[in-house]
Amino acid sequence: MKSFRKELFFSLPKRFGLVNITEDVTQALEESGITEGLVLVNSMHITASVFINDDEPGLHEDYYTWLERMAPHAPISRYHHNKTGEDNGDAHLKRQIMGRSVTVAITEGRLDLGTWERIFYGEFDGRRRKRVLVKIIGE
Ligand code: ZN
Repeated sequence: MKSFRKELFFSLPKRFGLVNITEDVTQALEESGITEGLVLVNSMHITASVFINDDEPGLHEDYYTWLERMAPHAPISRYHHNKTGEDNGDAHLKRQIMGRSVTVAITEGRLDLGTWERIFYGEFDGRRRKRVLVKIIGE
């Protein structure tokens, strides 16, 4: 069995942002030379997510609205976590809702995704450099 590891880096200008990283993961798969196996993609930060859904701008607006309704950023005093001096209590909760990682099958050298499935990086406390791990195992 072969294994391959790569980190992707992101530095989004705002607190919230969604980035389609399907091409980055495809590139990592090509670099790995693996044609049958699994790829794990996970955020290495507790205020960011990796998830799979549609690359449709209206849906991305809906995510923002939905997440802000469940875990509004302000007032920051509403979160016990912010008593530590941080202001990202909401971002930890948003990350929990949107998930840490995805696993995708690799078949005949390609990501075996559904028709409309795309891989996204979800940022909930941006304006600093963050990492995503791509780990690929197989033959
Ligand atoms: Zn925090």
